Amino acid sequence: MTTTQHPEIKVDEKGFFGQFGGSFVPEILNDKFKVLYTNFLEMINEPSFEKEFMMYLNDYVGRPSPLYYAQNLSKYIGSKIYLKREDLNHTGAHKINNTIGQILLAKRMGYTEVIAETGAGQHGVATATAAALFGMKCTVFMGRTDYDRQMMNVNRMKLLGSDVFAVEQGDKGLKDAVDAALGYFIEHPKVYYVLGSAVGPHPYPSIVRYFQSIIGKEARQQIIAKENRLPDSLIACIGGGSNAIGLFSAFLDDKDVKIYAAEGGGEGLILGKTAATLSLGKAMVFQGSYSIVLQDENGNAVKSHSIAAGLDYPGIGPEHAHLHNIKRVQYIPVTDNEAVEALKLLSKIEGIIPAMESAHAVALAAKILKNKNEITILNLSGRGDKDVERISAD
Ligand SMILES: *Cc1c(COP(=O)(O)O)cnc(C)c1O
Repeated sequence: MTTTQHPEIKVDEKGFFGQFGGSFVPEILNDKFKVLYTNFLEMINEPSFEKEFMMYLNDYVGRPSPLYYAQNLSKYIGSKIYLKREDLNHTGAHKINNTIGQILLAKRMGYTEVIAETGAGQHGVATATAAALFGMKCTVFMGRTDYDRQMMNVNRMKLLGSDVFAVEQGDKGLKDAVDAALGYFIEHPKVYYVLGSAVGPHPYPSIVRYFQSIIGKEARQQIIAKENRLPDSLIACIGGGSNAIGLFSAFLDDKDVKIYAAEGGGEGLILGKTAATLSLGKAMVFQGSYSIVLQDENGNAVKSHSIAAGLDYPGIGPEHAHLHNIKRVQYIPVTDNEAVEALKLLSKIEGIIPAMESAHAVALAAKILKNKNEITILNLSGRGDKDVERISAD
């Protein structure tokens, strides 16, 4: 039996969310992605997979992550804010949910070698961790600039048994790491590519969405247990969009739940100084999918900037482009400075040092929820250990 449906798959048969998405890749990859999608659908329809995946999420990752009522932050802002504590996961962020899921898929398909791209190293570490757990060979592609800046994560990946390849092309950042990983992937048919966010060609946005949807499923049950009702609003930060869609997916059909996403605003809404893709970008095909991208007048992708490496990407996942288009989610830029202030604030008043990415969501909450007295779930996507060296503590 070939299974072609699952209630949580929201793309059409060509891989589009509304007008965005699809798979714009060389023929050889298209064939590979068709097989990948079929295997993915079969897998998630098997109760035995669900059981195995949940065992790893519970006993290895440490799920369910708590939903914590942040009293001090709530008092400070004047609204009732619950933090979804993805920072407490093994390896310190939400990314491990996706890498465990994808490695199980790779294993099921008979692969023994995986590759991944990484920016600051968070997805690289999460992939290296899952590869170590399942005894797979792993190579992580990382732009040379990031490689030199993020030595701790490079060392973590190496300790976990992965090879880390420094990419010397282009701006030597995340975009170039993705290009290098895709190039290697095309040349090596026996390799599985563990993509790190809800971006890229179909079926990746659907695969990553599915594995991250555990965040929203848990949060929905937890808020009902604590408040006996749904929240008024949700907030998450957005790079490619995986932690955000993971939370949002469980509430998209609840029209009364307002949804906000914090983009990496960088130094302001100026091309080259920002990563606020949906605030400033336009539609184009980029890295295998049709979505919104920061681009110049000639239609070339423009280098992004955000103080948070995980948000520093000129593109965005196609489902977010769609949710922006139909106005289901509001995407609002948060500047570097606002994020730094929010990181310090949460550290001081709650004793939680958030990742610089997650601090964007905290800053957005402070901006839009002032004295609103709403019940909000804020996705605290990761912990800030990786960022503390770059922040002055006064
Ligand atoms: C990678 C990362 C992000 C951004 O990625 P998304 O796919 O948009 O979730 C956000 N927060 C943390 C802590 C990250 O490591």
